[in-house]
Amino acid sequence: MSITTPRLVILEIFLNTPNILDHAELMVLCKEHVNRITLYRTLHLFYEHHLLLKVPSSNGITKYLYRGLREDSRGGKLSQIPERKIHLICQDCGRIISVEHVKMPPIHLPKNFEPNFMDLIVNGKCRYCAK
Ligand SMILES: [Zn+2]
Repeated sequence: MSITTPRLVILEIFLNTPNILDHAELMVLCKEHVNRITLYRTLHLFYEHHLLLKVPSSNGITKYLYRGLREDSRGGKLSQIPERKIHLICQDCGRIISVEHVKMPPIHLPKNFEPNFMDLIVNGKCRYCAK
């Protein structure tokens, strides 16, 4: 993926925001640096590169969750085991807590499906909202 200013702006928003974001919220955070079409295209590109997950919300709006780089793209060893992450999403404030290297029970997939990565999304209340 080549580096462009809009891509950097959008990536920086994801890195600096602990929350799950939808298109409108991203548009506000981009201010005038990125236009609507570029934002759509960039989100799609990030999604294709597994940097983002699409999370449907209760009001039907797709939210985007930044899942980070794959281990092998950070110079680590390529594993035969699909990468696994757990994302805890607070339904009150939208905060995301991502947990890597967690033990998950084995999931038996159909033989003719090749998994790249597996993300588990758990909805609930964060420690700030649970008080
Ligand atoms: Zn919360």
